[in-house]
Amino acid sequence: MNKPGSVSPSTHAPIAPAGPPAGATVCTACALLCDDGVVHRAEGRFEHLCERGADAFGRAAAATCPAATIDGRPAAVAAAIAAAARRLGGARRVLVTGLNDVTIEGVTAACDVAETLGAALAPADEDSRHPGGPTIARCGEITAAWEELRDRADLVIFWGHDPAGSQPRFVERFVAPPLSPPRRTIAVGTTPLCDPPSSDHVHLPLDDDDDDVDLARLLLASILDRPRGVVSPRLEAAAATLHAAIDAARCVAFVTGRPDPHGLSRCGVIEIVRALSRRLPAFEIPLDAPPLAPNAAGAAMALTWRYGTAAGAPRAVAGGATPAPQGRPVDALGLVTAGGVDAILAVGRLPPRLDDLFRGQIDPRGVIRIAPAIPDGAGDGVFLRCRELFDETGTLLRADGRTVELTGGTDDSLPSAVALLAAIHERLVAAIALGPEGGTA
Ligand code: SF4
Repeated sequence: MNKPGSVSPSTHAPIAPAGPPAGATVCTACALLCDDGVVHRAEGRFEHLCERGADAFGRAAAATCPAATIDGRPAAVAAAIAAAARRLGGARRVLVTGLNDVTIEGVTAACDVAETLGAALAPADEDSRHPGGPTIARCGEITAAWEELRDRADLVIFWGHDPAGSQPRFVERFVAPPLSPPRRTIAVGTTPLCDPPSSDHVHLPLDDDDDDVDLARLLLASILDRPRGVVSPRLEAAAATLHAAIDAARCVAFVTGRPDPHGLSRCGVIEIVRALSRRLPAFEIPLDAPPLAPNAAGAAMALTWRYGTAAGAPRAVAGGATPAPQGRPVDALGLVTAGGVDAILAVGRLPPRLDDLFRGQIDPRGVIRIAPAIPDGAGDGVFLRCRELFDETGTLLRADGRTVELTGGTDDSLPSAVALLAAIHERLVAAIALGPEGGTA
């Protein structure tokens, strides 16, 4: 094992890639927010984008749906804004949700609407359905910027998670770049990585996803030289391989991100990283962003700043929020399935599972959607198209805390989500000023 203070970062020789090429744009098709893609829309040609990113840009260019619909019929944007304000203002229990697929400025504008309506506010992710688990797991975690991994970590351990599915270019951009001395990688999990990032790569197979919890306990005991108890020979061998690799490393990164509703897997990694960090640079790279949530970190930050919790507010009011009962986080899905919502304002794309559930649970006429695309066969409700996130101007927060500025793309034919929210908000405020006799919008 390396002795404390024996590691000098200067012994590493990162070979950092050059900055983004000229004309590069930010891809917002996943939480990686790659800033080196070059898009030639007219020719349908894309450089430095994965298949998912190229699909997102290509789909946007091909979209032909109307700018707005009211109850299934194409409508003028102004009429749809008025209808949205009328329905939201006339509802008694409104939920404002989505939020992970818009800029921080968009989240703030959605908060303004929620506060004017006294609405519940909750991002559309499923983390909040497991109160406590993920949050507890994150206590005491040591994380680092993704560039830190790229430039320093000579041992990268993929802990039950292959980023190829969630953030397709993570390995290419942050693990595959050469390092001197060469980087070693290990994947722990039931299946090997789709695309191993180095020639010095090992897969340590597990029988079951949850076996990584036992493996973490065993590895920690091994690192701290504590009794290990009775364990399976396979886990014993995996722990020995990991321990030997850690002993030979100068800087260790653990990449996590598998579904972990109760936080047990994350908790195990956090304990290992904390133990290791007393003797060498060690950190975790959590990659657990939900799908269709490129700005989940930004939404969480904006909500925390405004309401003291990333889970939103059970009833948003200006300057704060009504405290959640018994400190439980707001759960968008739970509110809807409990039948406590009669109108919903969803901003940005929703994960398909939540989209289906929301649609099936409340009167469709009370559904107000602001998103870049209107689904085929959209019926009752008000749909307003905003421009794609990559065509917006504004601020995003990458999952590792780095701010990403969007400077606007090439297509401004649709309004921004912020502009649509501001227009709805303006109508609501005007209706309130008129009082009950003045009607809504
Ligand atoms: S990895 Fe994600 S952000 Fe990067 S190009 Fe692919 S979809 Fe876009």
